Amino acid sequence: MRQHAAAKAAHPDALIFFRMGDFYELFYEDAVVAARELQLTLTARDKERSVPMCGVPYHAAEGYLQKLLRRGFRVAICEQVEDPKLTKTLVRREVTRVLTPGTALDSSLGPSESNYLAALAVESKADRAGVALLDLSTGEFRATEFRGKTAVQDACEELSRTHPRELLLPQGLRLGSVQTSLDGEEEDAATEMFRSVRTRTPMEDWVFTSEYAIPLLQGHYRIPSLDGFGMAGRAAAATAAGAVLHYLRSTRHEHLEHLDTPRCYERATALELDAVSLRNLEITEPLFSGESQQTTLCYALDQCRTPMGKRLLRLWLQRPSLQPDEIVARHEAVAEAAASLARRERLRRALEGVLDLERLLGRLALDSAGPRDVLALGRTLDALPEIASGLAELSARRWHSLRDGFDALTDTAGQIARVLSPEPPLKLGDGDAIADGVDVELDDLRGLSRSGREAIAAIEERERARTGIASLKVRFNNVFGYYLEITRSNLANVPADYERKQTLVNAERFTTPELKDYEHKVLTAQERIAELERRIFGELRRLVLNDATRMRETARRVAEVDVLLNFAHLAVLRNWTRPEIAGEGGVLEFAEGRHPVVELRLEESGSGRFVPNGGYLDAENGPSLALITGPNMGGKSTYLRMAALLVILAQAGSFVPAAHMRLGLVDRIFTRIGASDNVSRGRSTFMVEMTETAAILNTATSRSLVLLDEMGRGTATYDGLSLAWATVEHLHDRIGARTLFATHYHELTLLESKLDRLKNLRVACREGGAGIVFLHQVESGAADRSYGIEVAKLAGVPRVVIERARAVLKLHEKAESAGVAAGAAVVQAAEPALQMTMFTPLSQRVVDRVRSTDVDRMTPMEALQLLAELKQEI
Ligand code: ADP
Repeated sequence: MRQHAAAKAAHPDALIFFRMGDFYELFYEDAVVAARELQLTLTARDKERSVPMCGVPYHAAEGYLQKLLRRGFRVAICEQVEDPKLTKTLVRREVTRVLTPGTALDSSLGPSESNYLAALAVESKADRAGVALLDLSTGEFRATEFRGKTAVQDACEELSRTHPRELLLPQGLRLGSVQTSLDGEEEDAATEMFRSVRTRTPMEDWVFTSEYAIPLLQGHYRIPSLDGFGMAGRAAAATAAGAVLHYLRSTRHEHLEHLDTPRCYERATALELDAVSLRNLEITEPLFSGESQQTTLCYALDQCRTPMGKRLLRLWLQRPSLQPDEIVARHEAVAEAAASLARRERLRRALEGVLDLERLLGRLALDSAGPRDVLALGRTLDALPEIASGLAELSARRWHSLRDGFDALTDTAGQIARVLSPEPPLKLGDGDAIADGVDVELDDLRGLSRSGREAIAAIEERERARTGIASLKVRFNNVFGYYLEITRSNLANVPADYERKQTLVNAERFTTPELKDYEHKVLTAQERIAELERRIFGELRRLVLNDATRMRETARRVAEVDVLLNFAHLAVLRNWTRPEIAGEGGVLEFAEGRHPVVELRLEESGSGRFVPNGGYLDAENGPSLALITGPNMGGKSTYLRMAALLVILAQAGSFVPAAHMRLGLVDRIFTRIGASDNVSRGRSTFMVEMTETAAILNTATSRSLVLLDEMGRGTATYDGLSLAWATVEHLHDRIGARTLFATHYHELTLLESKLDRLKNLRVACREGGAGIVFLHQVESGAADRSYGIEVAKLAGVPRVVIERARAVLKLHEKAESAGVAAGAAVVQAAEPALQMTMFTPLSQRVVDRVRSTDVDRMTPMEALQLLAELKQEI
């Protein structure tokens, strides 16, 4: 218990897995937590002192550990570090590993998911904040820095965007409303970020000082300055990266050969999608967690062949480019690959042989890779020359730069193929992992072991003949080695030179000097074989790891080839076109645009065709703001999202689902769409909506794209309308951002006559006998009225309620035009209207139509027609 107390004192925030014989045991509070999380039986170590305890068998620990890590816990493994057989006193125990959500390799991790360990470093004046992100499973390591008044806030935004599994931060740091707000109404970047990160690991403040962290980083990479990483003058970024390294060391991660050098990245080079927009537009995650991935853009677009490609695609969609050169270079490459089926398919076929190079390398560095992993790595390397020559057939700039200096690593592949046996076992020691002909001693020993076993097998035959005992067998087990087994009934025939070894119920086991001799030869040979295999495999591992940097560079290129080919493949498959990039201009124009995810879903389910729609906004010369009205379910949100997705696709380097598109680059996309799952977190929808709107009005620029959907819904009609009105004016007059504004406030459409850069759009619908039909066509003009009641009817609201709603609506409209308070008019008129609706079989509409017809002026034919229509109504 003293040992346990020491381990716990050193790792107070971790669950201690305390090795006792074949079990890992947990005590005290740890036991209570683990029993609850893992559904283990809670027992007590000592009844009187009631120490709660529970445990898991050591060989099954892996599954339990993964579960705890996924739920955000930290675990310290306290092992027995002496052989219990060799010590008479208490076995020594030490914490040998600390597993944390951000550093543990999780075998259940999907190929396209990243597993980031992040660090946040804030300089003392809080005007600089650094963020570092490391994915230990692939070695990806990057850092960035934010400056100015909003530095900390921007850093928090960046963190919530990247969804780290674990966040390291100084324990003295106080952020946002997290520590102060209890009413849960405040929403800022820090709070949002804290919510999205499950495991936060505070460390002592000195770890996050540049005096400590930067030399640590330099020492690790053995370089005198950080300029080469693009970190010159970016002390906060470098400090965050250094803090990550410190944490890895303190959690005893010693093998870090595969770590990439930290690369500094700039947010300004990317189209910025904040966490809210990423969620609203369902780029990588469905809007409501737990829903199927099929609604995400990533899912609809991912036909990448390699796991590296899948990860890069996600990254490109989350951070589309803002650099015209980069974007155009990607488009060129896609265009060329799209034009040649043969060249494209040759490369895509070659990519199929490529496994997860980055993660295999990670496993190798962390020493958890077996011979089959190395074989897989080798096979992957074997596919590289074909990729290189496939690339040589393409000539676009980007293809050229990808091929130029492409390292196919044939030497490394050759080494692996030479050293590893063609069918190695999963784990070392389970068969021949090393090929014949690699090591003379190993070959000799294998020969010896083989002939020894053959000799032993021959002994069985010979002894059967000599003794006449047909059931005589030579056997082997780990405790007794080789022996001759003779059943009890045959004991009388045992020759005198047999030495008794062991007695069983039905049989006796014997040995002979000759058998002992061979046994010795075979067993020592096997021991030595295992030793040699371990040594040679270890050398191979080091050899491969020496090439880790080269391999990572090649993996990076392969990923890019994969994503560009994926774009080309989609362009052909789905008839997408190359967007025209109008540099810094303010235009956003598209013809026959389709929503890439909704279109695919409609197609796959066979439930209809997506109706293509065009759009035109121009922040400089044309209408900058479009106001969209029309019935619910008419397609307004879909249109808004489609516009954003077209921009994201174009700036990620892809072709787009439109007949034509012209785009002046967008610096940020802002969205305020529908109710998000914030409601379930106990915040009022209206508050969330206004916070998001505030963020847009405060930060959007003339180069941004703003999507606002159904603003002002959560409050009284006139409040909501007034807020929406003022927001439209502000966006139009002050910001000038390209804006799509979907609304149910018809009053807003009047603004068209006042604001010269605002235009009205509506989603078309038709009223048929059975009710409203949505055409999903976006056209110029304002919707002439609200269709709420029609949609309610379609949704199956009872007929009496629908009729009553129509009557109330009429009264409202009448009162309004007469300048009377609408509510009062309805109350006064309520009784008779209600009675009529309830007791007459005729619908209000029928009554209205009959009232309004001038019977005297009708032809008999028209009268009949009217009658037929009225009949349809009832
Ligand atoms: P609104 O925002 O006007 O209430 P939505 O955009 O949510 O309407 O669209 C309602 C439904 O109509 C969606 O489920 C979508 O599948 C379908 N829809 C929207 N736009 C189109 C379109 N252009 N073509 C075909 N179906 C569409």
